[in-house]
Amino acid sequence: MFNQEYGLIFIAGMGQVRKLIFIPLFVAILVCQMAAYASAYRTEHVVVVLIDGVRYTESLGDTTGIYCPRLTALAEYAVVHDSAFNDSITTTRYGIPGTWMGRFHVLQDTVYQGNNVEFSRWPTFWEYARHDLALPQNKAIYITPDYGSGTWLPSFYPGYGPAYWPRFVQPAISDDNNQVDFDSARVVLERDHPVVSYIYLPDTDHAGHSGIWADYIAEIRQADSLTNELWNIIQNDTVMADKTTMLVTNDHGRHDDAHGGFQGHGDSCLGCRHVMMFAIGPDFKRGVRLGAPRASIRDIARTAGELLGFSAPLSAGRVMSELFAPPCDYIPGDVNGNGWVNGIDVTFFVAYLKGIGSPPPDSCDIGQGRFYVAADANGDCSVNGIDVLYMVNYFKGGPEILHCPDYSPGR
Ligand SMILES: [Zn+2]
Ligand SMILES: [Zn+2]
Repeated sequence: MFNQEYGLIFIAGMGQVRKLIFIPLFVAILVCQMAAYASAYRTEHVVVVLIDGVRYTESLGDTTGIYCPRLTALAEYAVVHDSAFNDSITTTRYGIPGTWMGRFHVLQDTVYQGNNVEFSRWPTFWEYARHDLALPQNKAIYITPDYGSGTWLPSFYPGYGPAYWPRFVQPAISDDNNQVDFDSARVVLERDHPVVSYIYLPDTDHAGHSGIWADYIAEIRQADSLTNELWNIIQNDTVMADKTTMLVTNDHGRHDDAHGGFQGHGDSCLGCRHVMMFAIGPDFKRGVRLGAPRASIRDIARTAGELLGFSAPLSAGRVMSELFAPPCDYIPGDVNGNGWVNGIDVTFFVAYLKGIGSPPPDSCDIGQGRFYVAADANGDCSVNGIDVLYMVNYFKGGPEILHCPDYSPGR
């Protein structure tokens, strides 16, 4: 029989010995599916960029991109969450530790190493990551200007604490903190390939407080440019490219014009609450803007944990699952989606290409449109008659069936 013959060759093609054909069919299917589901998220590095105090109307809320042209353009490959907020007190000292801890809490005071310091009440995402993933310190990075003993610290929480703190990378305070933070980030990313990084760009907020609109806008443009360049650095790095997720957000916005305008912030007006949530990475949707569900800057910790495999048990946030591309539930070569790669798939495929059969099921639309991923047997990210020839050759003992690298099978 035509189909049985292909079935036999398929098993041999998987590198099994011939006697495996006597294994009951359901076991063979199970083995196939286990192989297809073995891979986890592709993200191996998470970079959080915190741009201090930019109002949404001057960031991604302006879809013409006159203030943030780079991120607006990069959004074609990212997911922009239009409903993200600081739901607590809209000041830096609540917002920033809130992103670290995945919950909001006032900073605590203590004396540490002879200095009066302020620290996080609850464990931070660096501590969670280092604790669960056994990361050395240079794999968890905090880049911030050197505020000396005024630098806010992670937690002393039992079971976490200083043994799990990040490496602090702190260039001297200057009149261009964003640039020197960026310069430090470039060095650290390219040298250490950290697993979790947090890069703090403070100058936008300071310029906003000046009340000089042109200065505020100039700092936003610079932060926009530097953030885009960070992504270019990541994508040009042999270790981090295509394995890194970058989240860009703010600790708070600024007053809308009915509540005092861009010069200040700190109350509950929409301008102060609404922040950007720009998310780009191999596991996220692309070219998508989301209006729901409501997200918070405290959701970053658990979202990073989901991607990297650490838990943030004391976070009050959630995984922003709406950012994630639907899992690619397919087996390369299983054109008809029945869980089994054999000659029926070729028949199905040919019928579809001739226009007399139904299209293959596709489960991997990550915002780039319809793509029959399981049928892309030669892995060139397009589906056509060459794939049919490739599959036929495979069944004759030719090379393994491939898949488009943009769509990993299974999750
Ligand atoms: Zn701030
Ligand atoms: Zn306000």
